[in-house]
Amino acid sequence: MSLDELTDFTDSIQESKYRAKQIHNWIYLKSVSSIEQMTDISKATREKISEVAQISNVKIKNKQVSSDGTIKYLLEYTDGNCAETVLMRFDNRANLTACVSSQVGCACNCKFCATAKLGFIRNLTPYEIIEQVLTIQRDTGLKVTNIVFMGQGEPLLNLDNVLKAIEIFNKDFVIGIRRITVSTCGIIPQINKLAEIDFQPTLAISLHAPEHELRKELMPIENKYPLDELMQTLKSYVSDTGRRITIEYTLIKGFNDTVDCAKKLSKLLISLKANINLIIYNPNDKDNFEKPSKDSIQKFKYILEQSGKKVTIRLERGSDIDAACGQLSNKFAK
Ligand code: SF4
Repeated sequence: MSLDELTDFTDSIQESKYRAKQIHNWIYLKSVSSIEQMTDISKATREKISEVAQISNVKIKNKQVSSDGTIKYLLEYTDGNCAETVLMRFDNRANLTACVSSQVGCACNCKFCATAKLGFIRNLTPYEIIEQVLTIQRDTGLKVTNIVFMGQGEPLLNLDNVLKAIEIFNKDFVIGIRRITVSTCGIIPQINKLAEIDFQPTLAISLHAPEHELRKELMPIENKYPLDELMQTLKSYVSDTGRRITIEYTLIKGFNDTVDCAKKLSKLLISLKANINLIIYNPNDKDNFEKPSKDSIQKFKYILEQSGKKVTIRLERGSDIDAACGQLSNKFAK
C-alpha cells in the first residue's frame, strides 16, 4: 500500500493519519516482518491491527548465497506459484541492487532463457512485486538502493502492475526513478505507452543480435516486433523523453560474439542515444549455448567503443549458485 492507501486503511479502523505514517515507516524503512514489532504503537492498537491485517503472506521457499555476496530467493505466493528475486552487491559500490520478477514464467520464449522453459503462468500483482524487495530488506537488514526488472517475466506485458510497483518503490521506498530499470525484449506498443507517462524509469532493451535473421533465431518476439521497427520506436522514445537507453547484449560463443556482429551492432546503434551493457552468457543445462572467450569479449567491446558508445561488461554475479533468471524455479518445478 502507498501512504494514501494506508491512510484509507487506518481511517477504516478509526485510527489517525499519524498511525498510517508510523505503519508506513515500519514497513518500508525499518522493514519489520510483523505488526508486533511496531513498538511505538500501543499494544492494544497493534492487536487491533493484527486482527484485520498482516504484513506479508509470502514464504521464502529457497535461498542460495553466493561466495560473491549475491543472494537468490525463491518466493512462494499464496496460490503456490513461485518467483525469483536476487540481491546483487558490488564490492566497490554502496549500491544494493534487487533484480525483481514481474511474472510467474514468461510467454516470450527467448532461447537462452531458463524462465522461458516454464511458459507463461500468470502476472504478479504490485504487492507480489514489492514483496520481493521487502523480503530482501527483512532478511538481510539492508536497504535496497537500486531496482532492476530483469528477473522472470516480460515487465512490459504486465505494465500496469509494474508501474504501480515502480511508483511505490519511488515514493515509499524513496528509490530515485533513475535507479529503477525496466528491461524489455522489445514490446513496441508498450514502449510507446512508457514514453507517455510522467515518471520514466531507465529503459533497457534486450537486443542480443544486430540483425533480424539472427535475432529471430534467439528471440521469437522478433517475428512480431522486428528490429527495424524497434529501432524507430527507440529513437522516438529518446526524442520524446530525453532519456538515454541501455542496450543489453548477451554474448554467446560463436553465435553473436563475432567481429562481424560487433561491426553490425555499432552501425545499428550509431544514431541512438544509448549505452551498451555486454552480458556474458551464463550457461544453463537447458540449451547448448556456451560462454564466449575473454578474447572475443574484449574485441567486441573495443569495436563498439570505437563508435563512441559507452560500453560496460556486466560483472558476473552468483556464478556458483542458480543465479540466472529461471534456473532456481526450474529446479523446483522439476
Ligand atoms: S529473457 Fe525475459 S522476456 Fe525473454 S523469455 Fe526470459 S524472462 Fe521472458
